[in-house]
Amino acid sequence: MSEAAPVRHFPVVLEGQPALVTGANSGIGKAVALGMAASGADVVVNYVVDPAAAEEVAHGIEACGRRAMTIKADVSDEDRVKAMFAQAIGHFGTLHILVNNAGLQRDAAFHEMTLAQWKKVIGVNLTGQFLCAREAVREFKKRGVVDQISAAAGKLVFMSSVHQEIPWAGHVNYASSKGGVMQLMRSIAQEVAPLAIRANGVGPGAIRTPINRPAWETPKAYGRLMSLVPYKRIGEPDDIAQAVAWLASDAADYVTGATLFIDGGMSLYPGFATGG
Ligand code: NAD
Repeated sequence: MSEAAPVRHFPVVLEGQPALVTGANSGIGKAVALGMAASGADVVVNYVVDPAAAEEVAHGIEACGRRAMTIKADVSDEDRVKAMFAQAIGHFGTLHILVNNAGLQRDAAFHEMTLAQWKKVIGVNLTGQFLCAREAVREFKKRGVVDQISAAAGKLVFMSSVHQEIPWAGHVNYASSKGGVMQLMRSIAQEVAPLAIRANGVGPGAIRTPINRPAWETPKAYGRLMSLVPYKRIGEPDDIAQAVAWLASDAADYVTGATLFIDGGMSLYPGFATGG
């Protein structure tokens, strides 16, 4: 079995609903792409670096009996995003699901943060989600609802973070981008609901991926991290993939404008568990 194969059963059905997942060759995006395939969707694997990792995810999707295509595109580049959607829609006929997952960090103390660090994070994490969502909504609006496929014309899932709520010293660009993602998602959800398009967010806590390796890779770091997680385990990418598949499915057809926090209780102010 491929190393990229999903580890859990995915109960929802996304058959006939091609999905595009950004940043799908690593971490959460990879698990989401495989979860979409395990739920029955054909999947576009977007990536910006490491084509071999993207191909591996594509093989994992094909091992689920689904079609896959890989597309290199920087989500912060308008022309590349437009070209990616044109290529994906040309190949699969349409798209029903967008998972706006690509994201990065460029951490610095606030007084030392450069404009380049600020712009890079806002460009990928916020502008990238705007650009991809806009192309997806254009396609969903044009096609409309196809009853046999889904109750909705399309589904958008925005990868946010607990840091859309929790301030994060040393990461003000990242926290600002995720706060922005929340209002981007909610405002889009309000605007496109009459078109039968749903938009929701996912707010992961600490998930075991390359983006936060220093926070979990040594026992000392892991122990420190657990002081922030009441449920006392790190999240796995599959924990997020399960929720994304559900949000994208008709099982969640009355859910729009919501953020689902998947964080083992990180957003429950764990410091107050023993007093306060
Ligand atoms: P990751 O570094 O493994 O994955 C990020 C992906 O985004 C990679 O595939 C990367 O190449 C891609 N990417 C970066 N810039 C891009 C660009 N310009 N265009 C296209 N793709 C680009 O990290 P991850 O943890 O899997 O992160 C995925 C998402 O989850 C991010 O939005 C991140 O902010 C969010 N998130 C992660 C955690 C966590 O604990 N891991 C917590 C909260 C939120």
